[in-house]
Amino acid sequence: MPTHPADLTELSFDDSFVRTLPGEAPTNEAVARRSREVRGACWAAVTPTPVSAPRIAAWSEGAGALLGLRRPTAAGAVADVLGGNRLVTGMRPYAACYGGHQFGHWAGQLGDGRAITLGETLGPDAQRWEVQLKGAGPTAFSRRSDGRAVLRSSLREFLCSEAMFHLGVPTTRALALTTTGDAVVRDMFYDGHPRAEPGAIVTRLAPCFVRLGHFEIFASRGETQPAQALLAWLLAHHFPELGPPSDDALVALFATVAERTARMIADWMHVGFVHGVMNTDNLSVLGLTIDYGPYGFLDTYDPDFTPNTTDFQGRRYRYANQPGIGQWNLYRFALALSPLLSDPQRLEAPLSAYVGHFETHWRERMARRLGVALTPEDMPFLDEMNSTLGAVETDPTLFFRRLIDLAALPAGLTGEAALVAPLAECFYDAARSPAGDTDLRDRWVRWLRDWRGRFDADPRPAEVRRAEMAAASPAVIPRNWLAQEAIDAAEQGDFGPLERLMAAVRRPYEATPENAHYRQRRPEWARDKAGCSALSCSS
Ligand code: AMP
Ligand code: MG
Repeated sequence: MPTHPADLTELSFDDSFVRTLPGEAPTNEAVARRSREVRGACWAAVTPTPVSAPRIAAWSEGAGALLGLRRPTAAGAVADVLGGNRLVTGMRPYAACYGGHQFGHWAGQLGDGRAITLGETLGPDAQRWEVQLKGAGPTAFSRRSDGRAVLRSSLREFLCSEAMFHLGVPTTRALALTTTGDAVVRDMFYDGHPRAEPGAIVTRLAPCFVRLGHFEIFASRGETQPAQALLAWLLAHHFPELGPPSDDALVALFATVAERTARMIADWMHVGFVHGVMNTDNLSVLGLTIDYGPYGFLDTYDPDFTPNTTDFQGRRYRYANQPGIGQWNLYRFALALSPLLSDPQRLEAPLSAYVGHFETHWRERMARRLGVALTPEDMPFLDEMNSTLGAVETDPTLFFRRLIDLAALPAGLTGEAALVAPLAECFYDAARSPAGDTDLRDRWVRWLRDWRGRFDADPRPAEVRRAEMAAASPAVIPRNWLAQEAIDAAEQGDFGPLERLMAAVRRPYEATPENAHYRQRRPEWARDKAGCSALSCSS
């Protein structure tokens, strides 16, 4: 065991996934990197394809601490490992095999087309972490793509993984953002204008990266044996409290995944996160937010918002649809687990229970955000809030922060001006705000009086509830325009703006003079700028 803090090259690596599960190990690299069907296997061995000049452009101290790591130099042995140019003893890299439903349709084999797991290592607290490179070159699952990732999308994944963690949303982590020194060609708008962009690799960490689609691929092919092996591994390593494989353990596993997914999506809804590509291959069995692609955060409260240009037509993955899609995906997961269970109907109850879990988690946090007790009977009160938020372009993040200020005003406060004045900055258009629109003003005054009456009537100390409100409604979220500012600078070789943005997202529930820039609503320049309002899947 290394003494901590250690260098990545000093860690011990193991790979229980490779060691215990069926896989495919081609004898030469050319074959390993060739796109193909991989049958009866959980993984296909492949080493990362080397890059010209790996440099660690950003590093997460918090994620590093999980592995007991000290900050490495920008170039050197650690950068070589994270760029895919060098392996550490014990690493047996592989790409995982999985399938998935994309936009509601079965897509067959997908797998890690550009992610390569280097190995598993134990942190100082004995937690097992899988270390994975995203953008490390072709694998068996790359199909016609290059296995690479561009800087803009890698920076967005690095940023959002860490931001979500600090927001308290279950997520995979990001250890480092490494530039490769190589160009990657992408046609960002899919309009016949490909351009060379800087390439990058994100080093991701999670206890494991198993997705719902891992089980779907086996079910689709009638491969029960590898599915059973994967199930046994998952239970032993990630759900030891559920015991060895049995019908009961499988049902309990499904119920746990369903509850964790409900909790995760309830958290997404509160921070205004829209994943953008909630395909079953992009949902983790651990209930972690995974695969940050064309995601976005609500700049205006719009239930129909989707950041993903590929989803503009059907809007399947729009903000308000996420809880329902979570259940649809779990239904697919249940079907995939069914061949492993003597009575698959036992999965119906936990699938239905998902709705209750979601509502409970969502309402509990909403109660903290509003500083009032809430029961299912209060839905009309909440519906009226949401519909008023959606009436004109209104920033929901700012709205909930201003409520904390309103809760600090003297009890019994009902004067119209005092109620709506603090909300001014939440609205994008003064003419279509309570200052310029009397109907909207009346609506807000009515709702705010209702809310304030409930707040004043609550028996718990107001100060305690105000503190809870501040801890439940973030001041800083990694809005697309903030990410874009960091991307524009990074593409010119300046990672200073990213570093400052990272410092802000690490303390999302604090409002200080230093983070004022990161607490603003979307500026007008970002309204229709690519990367700010809409994102393509090109990454
Ligand atoms: P996503 O929708 O981004 O999660 O990706 C769906 C599938 O496409 C996954 O199997 C990815 O690994 C694969 N994929 C996406 N981009 C690339 C790429 N540049 N090279 C190889 N495979 C890719
Ligand atoms: Mg994916």
